Amino acid sequence: MTTENNQQLREQLIAAVVKKRAAVARAHQVVVTLLEPHIEEQTFLDLLTEIGPDNYADIVEERHINKLCGYPLCDVVVEKVPVKQYQICVAKNKVYDITERKKFCSGYCFKASEYIKSQVPTSPLWLRDKEPKPNFRLMRREKEIGK
Ligand SMILES: [Zn+2]
Repeated sequence: MTTENNQQLREQLIAAVVKKRAAVARAHQVVVTLLEPHIEEQTFLDLLTEIGPDNYADIVEERHINKLCGYPLCDVVVEKVPVKQYQICVAKNKVYDITERKKFCSGYCFKASEYIKSQVPTSPLWLRDKEPKPNFRLMRREKEIGK
């Protein structure tokens, strides 16, 4: 009886590990998919359920390295990236770190990307099938404020 239980437990454990690995592999696949230009809105939203915030940050970073705007729904090529890390706003008498902002073609894309990133679930990837699908919201372009 005990041996049987052990065997069962072992099988459950193996199944959990297999499921976890598959979910992590799938998330990496999603990252690669979202590095491409011309991503459809619906595809983008569907894929977001299969990644975590770290994966999303990887997508932005990789797109930036490939000279594409960091926001996966934007196809703008960002050739000229400012070298400086800080920007001084004289009017507000403030210094801004623009490390993240530099990865996007516009203020809109930066904000839209941050908005989506904040909605990416933080729960473990391999437990997602037990959760209700989140209802992601995109930031619309008409809300664009400043560049
Ligand atoms: Zn953009």
